[in-house]
Amino acid sequence: MQARRTATRPDDVGESPMNGTIIPLGKRRRSVEEAIADFWSKVDGRPQEPKPHELKSPCCEWIGAKDEDGYGKFFVSELCTSAHRFSYFIHSWEWPAEGLVCHTCDNPPCISPYHLFLGTPKINTQDAVNKNRHAFGERNYWSKLTDENVRTIRSEFAPRVVTIRMLAQKYGVSMMCIQSVILRRTWRHVQ
Ligand SMILES: [Zn+2]
Repeated sequence: MQARRTATRPDDVGESPMNGTIIPLGKRRRSVEEAIADFWSKVDGRPQEPKPHELKSPCCEWIGAKDEDGYGKFFVSELCTSAHRFSYFIHSWEWPAEGLVCHTCDNPPCISPYHLFLGTPKINTQDAVNKNRHAFGERNYWSKLTDENVRTIRSEFAPRVVTIRMLAQKYGVSMMCIQSVILRRTWRHVQ
């Protein structure tokens, strides 16, 4: 049993700790590798890692079938029926069994792993709430963060080194909250 590890490159199939694993698909059984090859054949280009000192990279879109909300349809098993969810899986090697895979870019067909994070139904609701309100940072009644925290969070964040999850735990707030701070969706007034 190999230790779980994160693929370092988006299409780095060789990193798969599940080589040869068959994903149950009813009659259409296929291996993880087959599913991955099929997946990338329906993606326009490849996800791009944010350049140093840049938080945002371009979206990478699904060009296969989409559902009515614009999310890529990709049936792997009952655990995974959408493209962005499968993308999350092959970049983390964890089935996102609980919670939802959310987009930081609000672009449903995007499958860039750099734009995906694991939320929960509650965080998703909070995400919707955050997007529909003007957030004024420290003055907001629900805010637990101070302006100083926000500056520290932005300077501490380092993709894959100091992660959003680690910062959320450190400051006792949701990952969505940290995400919003880093992407300057909230606390825009703090330099
Ligand atoms: Zn995106």
